[in-house]
Amino acid sequence: MRGRGSRDTGTLSAAFASRPVRTTVDMQAQRPPLLEVKRNLELNTALVKSSSRLPLAGSRLKRGPDQMEDALEPAKKRTRGMGAVTKVDTSRPRGPLLSTVSQTAAQKGPKKTGPRGCSTAGTVLRNQKPAPAAPAQKPGTSTAPVVVGKKPGKRPAWDLKGQLCDLNEELKRYREKTHTLDRENQELREQLREVQEQATTLGAERNTLEGELASVRTQAEQGRQKLETLSARVLELEECLDTKEKLVQELQKERLQLQEERSTLSTQLEERERRFQASEAALSSSQAEVVCLRQKTAAQVTLLAEQGDRLYGLEMERRRLHNQLQELKGNIRVFCRVRPVLAGESTPSPGFLVFPPGPAGPYDPPTRVSLSRSDDRRSTLTGAPAPTTRHDFSFDRVFPPGSKQEEVFEEISMLVQSALDGYPVCIFAYGQTGSGKTFTMEGGPRGDPQLEGLIPRAMRHLFSVAQEMSGQGWTYSFVASYVEIYNETVRDLLATGARKGQGGECEIRRAGPGSEELTVTNARYVPVSCEKEVEALLHLAHQNRAVARTAQNERSSRSHSVFQLQISGEHAARGLQCGAPLNLVDLAGSERLDPGLTLGPGERDRLRETQAINSSLSTLGLVIMALSNKESHVPYRNSKLTYLLQNSLGGSAKMLMFVNISPLEENVSESLNSLRFASKVNQCVIGTAQANKK
Ligand code: ADP
Ligand code: MG
Repeated sequence: MRGRGSRDTGTLSAAFASRPVRTTVDMQAQRPPLLEVKRNLELNTALVKSSSRLPLAGSRLKRGPDQMEDALEPAKKRTRGMGAVTKVDTSRPRGPLLSTVSQTAAQKGPKKTGPRGCSTAGTVLRNQKPAPAAPAQKPGTSTAPVVVGKKPGKRPAWDLKGQLCDLNEELKRYREKTHTLDRENQELREQLREVQEQATTLGAERNTLEGELASVRTQAEQGRQKLETLSARVLELEECLDTKEKLVQELQKERLQLQEERSTLSTQLEERERRFQASEAALSSSQAEVVCLRQKTAAQVTLLAEQGDRLYGLEMERRRLHNQLQELKGNIRVFCRVRPVLAGESTPSPGFLVFPPGPAGPYDPPTRVSLSRSDDRRSTLTGAPAPTTRHDFSFDRVFPPGSKQEEVFEEISMLVQSALDGYPVCIFAYGQTGSGKTFTMEGGPRGDPQLEGLIPRAMRHLFSVAQEMSGQGWTYSFVASYVEIYNETVRDLLATGARKGQGGECEIRRAGPGSEELTVTNARYVPVSCEKEVEALLHLAHQNRAVARTAQNERSSRSHSVFQLQISGEHAARGLQCGAPLNLVDLAGSERLDPGLTLGPGERDRLRETQAINSSLSTLGLVIMALSNKESHVPYRNSKLTYLLQNSLGGSAKMLMFVNISPLEENVSESLNSLRFASKVNQCVIGTAQANKK
């Protein structure tokens, strides 16, 4: 754009430059109009410049580069020809202006050649050699010799008329020229006005375009913002797409896994279906079997009922035979048990106690015991060595010192079971103090199951058998009590709390008017159903005895302790009931006081105590004798012990007596007494036992 202004200026300069130098020199007198034109042109240029920064509106904008080049081509050519200006006006052709100037200049050429010998420039030029740097055809350069060269044909000084004529000629030419310049000036003004109008139009266009540009910029800004938003959105969507793609990949993996699982499951399903079909086949065959089995079961139920009846009959038969066996063995049986020599005790001389083998040979359990005693009185009288007297005793069974608790219990287990069958059972431990009665009945030190005595073993056996019998329809219940009889007073060994360790409050009474059953008042009757409960009761009884022992020395040895278990059985289906007591009695020491001893005040009590014991033990013997002899009067009432046990002694009862013997020679006298008492009992035969069946 700037080029356009420059080109305009250049074009004009070229136009003027094309004129002869003389013309330029002459024009110096008329400088103001030319300067004005030039200034106006410069102003136009500035105006055009100011509006030229915008794209041209109208047809010029629509013009293509080629067209513009075509349009510019003549001007370019002209400009090149002048060699002064290289920039080209691409906006507007300046044809008219240039043509006017050039035409004017061209027209001037011939005018310079005057009609006459006024030696026109053309004439002068034709006579002169042209300058080598300026081509002859260029009008600008053709007049150069006129300006700087010598004027050929100069009128002589005297030719004033000729000079005047020349001057007039020249004046005339200047006037024409002035006129021409005025016209040119007018045209230029006209052009200037057009240019100004154009500039105004262009300014308006520029404003419009600026407005448009602003709106376009706003739109562009909005577009940019929108683009940014969209870019952010695109990024977001791309991220989302990534996530979704990952998800899709995971889902595809999952789908693959699921397909694998499905194939596995379908394989399994097929397998199961196959099995199911096999099972169905098996089921149908099983159903046939079931029908068959049901028929068999029905037959077997009938058979079972018959066998149940038979079993019941057999059970009754077993009880009868068992009872017969017990009767054959004797309703009163006596077992002799000799305890071992304890640590610290002197070993008896060999042959003091002998246990001859049974009738069936050395492996037959012994039933006899021989005790040898030297007769000291006879040796004193004769002076010879004291002869020994051998005392042989025979019992239902003899247990030598090495016998185990288990062995002993095995012998009485059948007897204990008789209590379940409804026969009263009474087991006594008889013997002097320290002979092993408590060991036999209750056992040795607690915690060693091998040393457990008859009471815990009998209880375990009863619970076990009752459990077995429940399969045959029998239901059993057990109620335990534990009392001691000291000096003919009864004390509850199961007492707890404030009553613990106190005696004399208990009395033996009939359970009800007309009832045969006896009960001890104020004594605890504790239902038991397992070994642990029994164990707890034995522990309590042991504690109660220990409390009493502090009050009266060794009272436990001087009293009878009676463990009673009331057994009640019921066969609901057959409406049967049976009940019997099992009595396990640890008798007081059977030793007697030496009649030769002089008694002090404390020993008198001991004498009374001993007399009470001896009396009760004698009464027991007498009761057994009376029962054996079937006497009309049985002296049960003579002692608390026999009174309490009267329902377990006699016709319907089974009785077992352990006679416990010390192995020591020093106890030989008491051992003999015990063995003699036991032998008497052993000789007794009590009538046929009757089961307490209702
Ligand atoms: P009792 O009750 O007749 O007075 P014990 O039962 O208290 O006699 O026994 C006296 C001692 O002999 C106790 O220390 C006991 O452990 C022990 N004893 C008794 N009999 C046996 C036996 N068969 N085996 C081992 N020790 C026994
Ligand atoms: Mg004892």
